[in-house]
Amino acid sequence: MRGLTFDALHSANVDRQAAWCPDQTPSLSFRGNELAGETGEACNVIKKLERERHGWAGSRDTLEHLAEELADVVICADLCAITAGVDLSAAVVAKFNATSEKVGLPHRLAEPVPTAPATGAQAVIKDGKIVISIDVDALPLIVSGSCATNEILHGCWKVTDPAEFAKEVCHALNRESEIGTTPVHVMFDRAFLHVIEQGGEGIDQVSEAEFEAEAARLQKEAAA
Ligand SMILES: [Mg+2]
Repeated sequence: MRGLTFDALHSANVDRQAAWCPDQTPSLSFRGNELAGETGEACNVIKKLERERHGWAGSRDTLEHLAEELADVVICADLCAITAGVDLSAAVVAKFNATSEKVGLPHRLAEPVPTAPATGAQAVIKDGKIVISIDVDALPLIVSGSCATNEILHGCWKVTDPAEFAKEVCHALNRESEIGTTPVHVMFDRAFLHVIEQGGEGIDQVSEAEFEAEAARLQKEAAA
């Protein structure tokens, strides 16, 4: 995407979708049909360009029109990703690099580095802290996306008051279990596990004795 970032397209799509369909968020099946429709329109233009190249009788088309339809395909793919709650930027990088790896070519895309919280849920490092944020105004869209994926939220739900709902969500996130853990702790533990399982940087496995000594040192340091 020369001159255009996924983030810019994502933000513009989120804003326009909210204005376009203020009362209802389009479902993933609507978005999927839309993507297939735009892909078909692009293919139809390509068919006509090919027909002209062969000199066969029939209607003609232009590269300008092909550009328009390919643009529709990219815009609709991003709308599908938004509805499904997929990070398209990260997915494109991962898929491109996996294909290069598979066919033995050296071409790689750089991993996207999160810099600032944008619309949607995102974790960044800011002033020595991991900061996780969600735009309160984006909660209706995020909940709608969660319902569409049907993984954890089952059924159809609509956020009617984002500010009130946000307060309830904060209470839920800070809710302590009997042993004093909260959903935030659980979320971090899952992230720690993922890093360990992926052999990520910055953490090593140690012996039980080393672990005990380090735990004691950390507790002493925290108490000081
Ligand atoms: Mg079109």
